[in-house]
Amino acid sequence: MLYVGFFSNSMIGKSMALKADLRHFLDEEGHVLELTDQAETIFKFLIKIVSSVSKNIEMPLINVDLKCTTRADELSCEGSIEARCIAIGMIEWHCDTCEASGTISNWQGSLWDKQEHTIH
Ligand SMILES: [Zn+2]
Repeated sequence: MLYVGFFSNSMIGKSMALKADLRHFLDEEGHVLELTDQAETIFKFLIKIVSSVSKNIEMPLINVDLKCTTRADELSCEGSIEARCIAIGMIEWHCDTCEASGTISNWQGSLWDKQEHTIH
């Protein structure tokens, strides 16, 4: 297993923002590393947010088709995830019901970046 899990349970808990860097999940060629189950759950959650937000990058707030519980098996929140791009290369997400929130960086140019690149 190449991946060393860096998500402690407290990071996935209610009050602490989850700061994720998409590069931590990828090798130098952009392929997904072998992930622990927990990391894979989080990773799938993150890439769903990245593809939804990058597809709708102009929108002030995007309702991601994701339940809060998708982050970890033991969660029971019924909330849904909302996200937006707060700065170039930085996505912020939060649950509409509980205090769960986080940011995702270094997602641009990844496989899940769905922005339509205009050629200037
Ligand atoms: Zn929640």
